[in-house]
Parts: sequence; C-alpha cells; structure tokens
Amino acid sequence: MFLIASSLFLHGCLLYAQQPFLSDAQWTLLRDEASGLAPYENLRSLTRLHRVPATPEFDQAAEFMLARAKEYGLQDAHAEQFPIDGKIHYGLMRSYLAWHVDAARLWELQPEHTLLGDWATDPIRLADYSHSADVDAALVDIGAGTSETDYANKNVRGKIVLADGSLAAVQRMAVMEHGAAGIVSDMPNQTTAWSGLDRTIVRWGHLDALLPNGFAFMVSRETAAALRAQLIGGRPVTLSAHVKAEVGPGHWTVVTATIRGVDPQAGEVVYSCHLDHQRPGANDNASGCVTILESARVLASLIESGKLPRPRSTLRFIWGPEVEGTMAFLSGHPEIRRSMRADVHMDMVGGDPYKNKSILHVTETPWSLPSFVTDVGEFFAETIRNAAAVYAEDGTHREAAVVEDRNGAPGTRNEFLSDRTPYSEGSDHDDYDSSTIAVPSLYLRDWPDVYIHTDHDTLEQIDPTKLRRVALLGAAAGYTYAAVDAGKAASLLPFFAARAQRRLAAGFERAQSVLNDSRIQAQEAWYEARNLMTQMLRREQAELLSFAMYTGGDAATVAAFNRDLDVQVTTLNGWIDRSAATRGARDFPQSPPWHAEPDASRIPVRTGEFGPLTFQNDDVLLDRLGRQRMAKIKLLNGGSDRLLRVQDRGTLYAYEIVNFVDGKRSVGEIRDAVAAEYGPIPLDVVADYLKACEEAKIVVFR
Ligand SMILES: [Zn+2]
Repeated sequence: MFLIASSLFLHGCLLYAQQPFLSDAQWTLLRDEASGLAPYENLRSLTRLHRVPATPEFDQAAEFMLARAKEYGLQDAHAEQFPIDGKIHYGLMRSYLAWHVDAARLWELQPEHTLLGDWATDPIRLADYSHSADVDAALVDIGAGTSETDYANKNVRGKIVLADGSLAAVQRMAVMEHGAAGIVSDMPNQTTAWSGLDRTIVRWGHLDALLPNGFAFMVSRETAAALRAQLIGGRPVTLSAHVKAEVGPGHWTVVTATIRGVDPQAGEVVYSCHLDHQRPGANDNASGCVTILESARVLASLIESGKLPRPRSTLRFIWGPEVEGTMAFLSGHPEIRRSMRADVHMDMVGGDPYKNKSILHVTETPWSLPSFVTDVGEFFAETIRNAAAVYAEDGTHREAAVVEDRNGAPGTRNEFLSDRTPYSEGSDHDDYDSSTIAVPSLYLRDWPDVYIHTDHDTLEQIDPTKLRRVALLGAAAGYTYAAVDAGKAASLLPFFAARAQRRLAAGFERAQSVLNDSRIQAQEAWYEARNLMTQMLRREQAELLSFAMYTGGDAATVAAFNRDLDVQVTTLNGWIDRSAATRGARDFPQSPPWHAEPDASRIPVRTGEFGPLTFQNDDVLLDRLGRQRMAKIKLLNGGSDRLLRVQDRGTLYAYEIVNFVDGKRSVGEIRDAVAAEYGPIPLDVVADYLKACEEAKIVVFR
C-alpha cells in the first residue's frame, strides 16, 4: 500500500517538477533530438588517441573535433595554435612544453625475459615528458623515493629505480640529485574507497617537463610487487630501457566553433571541456568533449531548422588542452573573453555509476561569484533525475527518463544519480570563475571515478543514456543562458528566491555547528555563526541580483525578494542568539574579534595580468617567489594546531582570498568571506597570504 501511494505521489510531483525556463514543447524538442549514441561513437574515436597536450596525437584529436563541428553545421569552426616554450605567458600562466615520442620499450632482461611496456601498443606505459635513453641497468627499490632516507645506503647512480612516490618528485631526487638513469613507477591513483582493490590498473604518469632528463615507465601495483619480491629475495633484476623522445618548444591547439546569436551586443555563452589526457581517457575527458559537441549538434540542428528561436547570445564551443588551452584562448581573444557571460563546463560526464562509482555533480560557482547559473543547471538535472527515478522504479514515463536504448542502442535504464555540490577545484572552470575573468560556470562532473587517469578509464565504463541526459542538460542550460531576458524575471525570480530560502535554512544548521564547536571560545563562535549567516545572505541576494544584471533588468525587481531573505535571516539569527546564550555567551561582540589586528583594515587591489594563481603546470607564487619563500606562507604550510582545519583546504582558501580582492573589501572583510565559505581562519593567515601576493606583484595595497 505504501509503495503504491509513494509511486502515485512521485507521478503527481512530476507534473509540477517541470523546469520553469523552457516551454514544455521546447524541452521535448531538445530531449528528442539529443542522442546518446552520437556522442558514444565520437567518444570511441577519441579513446584511440593518447591525447597529451602539444603532441601529434592531441592534434589528431583536435582535427577530429573540428571535422565533426563542421559536419554538424557549426559556424566559424576553426583551429588555432598557440606557441609554447616554457617562457611565453598567457595571462598569468607560463606556458609549458611539447613532447614528441618516436618509440619506447622497457624489457626485463633477468630473471625473466619479458616486455614490460611498449609505447607503440600501450602509450600510457611511458610517463609524459620522458626523455631519450638507451640503458641496460639494475633495478633498485627506493620505496616512495621522495625523501632522503629512501636513498640511504643505496647507490642508484646509473641504475633504474623502482618507486611509488609522486613521479615528478622522484624525478627530482632520484634522477636529478642522485644520478639515476630512469624510473619504474607504480604511483597509486587518486584515493577513493575502492583504492587498491584492483592491482592490475596502470596509472598515467607525468614527469616535470622543465627538468632536463629522466624517463619513467608506469607499471601496475601487481607488476611492481612482483619486481619488489625478486629484489627482496636477493635476485637481481636487470632492465633494458629504450626511449626515443624529445621535450621542447611546440604549440597548443584549440578548436572553437559557434552558433551565432541574434544580437551581437548580447555577448557569448561558452561551452568548455578539455580535450587532453591519456589513452583511453573515456570519461576523463573524452566524455565532456563529445557531450558539449552533442549539445552543439542538438542546438544547431533545432535553431538552423527554425524549430527553436535563435537566442540573443552567441553560443561558443571550445576544445583544447585543460586549463592551458583555456588561458591561451582567452589571452589571444580579449574581446571574446570580455563578452563571455556564462560557461557550461563538462569534465567527466559519461560514467555508468554502477561501474565507475560516480555521481554527476552540478557544481556551484564559488562564493566570490554568486550566480543564478547553478540553479538553472540544478533545475534541469532534477527534471531528468525525477523522471529517471520513476522509470527505474516502475517502468513508466520512459520518454521523460531520457534513456538511450532507442533502436537497440546500448544505453542503460539506470537512475540519474546527480546532486548539487559546493564549488570544487581542478578543471577549466577554475579559470572562468576566477575574479579577473568572472564568467560564472555550470561545472558538471562525475566524482569519484575510480578509474580516473588509468588504463581502465575505457569505453566500457561509459553509458550512452548518461551521455544523452547530460547533452540534454547542457543544451537546455546553455540555451537558457543565451535566450533568457528580463521579461522572464517575474516568472523566474520566485523560483530562485525559494531555492535561496532553502539554502539559508540549510546554512543555519552549519551556523549551529560552528556555534557549538568546543574548539572555538563561545563569544568568538557566536561571531563566526552570525558571520556565516551574513555572508550567506549576501551571496543569495547577489545571486538574485545576478539575474537582474545578466538580463539587463531592473535591480528593483529583486528588492522585494531580498527583503524577504533579510527577514528570514533575522529570524535565524534570533535562534542563533538564543543558542549562544545557552553556551554562556553574553552581549554580541561590538566589533569582529580581529578588529585590533594591524592588517585588518588594509585594502588590497588586483594588479597585473588576468587569471587565478595556480594552473595545471604552473604556480605563479612559486615561480615568482621561489621554493624557500613559498615554504613560509602560513596558509599553504601551516604548523600550529589552530591551522589544522585550514590545512587540507589551503588551496581553496587561497583561490578565494585572491578572488575576493576587489579594491573595496579590507583584509578583515576578506577573512570573514572565506571564513564563512570554508570555515573560521585566523586573520593573520589571510594577511600573510596577501603579503606574499603583494611581493609577487599580484596585488598592491591601497
Ligand atoms: Zn578532467
């Protein structure tokens, strides 16, 4: 009885759960046109290529995307090349190097005579940026190989080392400092709950391209364990390594294409992904590349045929090397960069969750860039998720569930496992969302993915149904960003405001846990809890305002909603105050706990080039200040107990501290902003980080 009732309830909900942004007819058009099979077949082609940036196979992948973009009727489809030499800068980011491999093989000569790796058949076996070598040498086990103790009483000069530490660090110590010829590595993959279960996985590895020598072959944990067992048993292992490869100047290739909007003044909505990564790299990130392409195909076909009205803004699609291609393109096209208004970013979106253990996360913009774009994406994801759940449970509403088993296609009938998560770093959206670019990004990502960056990230893990759903989600969200106008404010703002109220209510629970944190003194905890509510309120009000500004509407249209949010937070603050009293706190502090600190009132201003401070292969502070100075930055290195909770989120704080620098906020206000987003942090840690940024000429103080 209960089951029937709950099923009826869900069906009832579905009628009302329809998203508010597109008409039912438009949604159905997009849904029916979206294919899971087209991206699946395109993905099959990409997974045959070892797509390391600035290599011949990357350029083959770029050619493939370009040909498809033209075939699908996109406009202005072309490829651009950006020179790289390790010195040229694109915005704040220093370029990296290119790599060309002719051949590479690793043989075990004794005790067995067996082939351990061959570039020709399995390129992931050779670590990126390996240099030429021709060497027969003994293998020496050095453990992790990343600390001096790993080398005590061991002579590795001219030998090949077996290590499982971070590859670039092993290269620096074993090869550069201790004279080893090369490396055999079983460096483990990203840690998940499933880590270590499958010992046959081979991880993708990268040496530091800026170091002048060394090579590395990647082996599975199983193979490495067998080699270690030989060495421990006193049986020498001799290897023969042959590498013919070159690291040096070259170019990055970026492919782009558009669907023109009606109004050239209405700017651009960009779709991004990253085209690089190892073979097969099916989910990371062939999936994102082919799925934005499928969104493009769907939109181009419906717009060109007149079935969907041409939107105001131009839609732009970009395929290039992760982060680096984005920075190069944005640097080469300042006029396009300034015209970009929203971004749909896909990085890992095709995983079958029952295989690679992934959830599709709709990821928020950081608090420094509040925007309605996340809510739009979340609405569409929920629309698909609700229908997919009903279909999975009772087999009804198949069309609405957007499965891809039409005409025998191999898509699953899985539920759509998706949610909304806070900002998370690690892809091109870091650049778009950063304050000097400020293009709010709808970041769609599978996480975790137990096969990321390994030879197991194959077509096998990909579900055409998932590809179809995300292509639809991407097409619907990007089309909404490109078409929405101020006339929609009256019908959409209530939806955004209702979500804001929900998030504020959830934020109250966070504020309560800060208030009850026994590690923070009661009076201070009270300040932090109230600060959290204040910052959350600002963020939600700024999100509503972002819609008015985006659509060229009147800020007054959001005023009434913002007053309602004020009222809600006043109520929640009253509850916090009562809890504070039970903790023994009396009289809310007149001024912030940090107000007497000398740096609190200083106001930093951004200066110099655009971009965040860390990239795939470049760290601006490290580059400009050096390792010794870097090691003294409290935020990134810590040391005291008070910093414990800050430690593991140091890079997130750093990203946002710089983003919150706007020439208006003081150091104290920036502290309060990041303290709300990531947790209480001492003011001097924020001030210390900003001083390092001043030394690196990223900020000046007014
Ligand atoms: Zn990726």
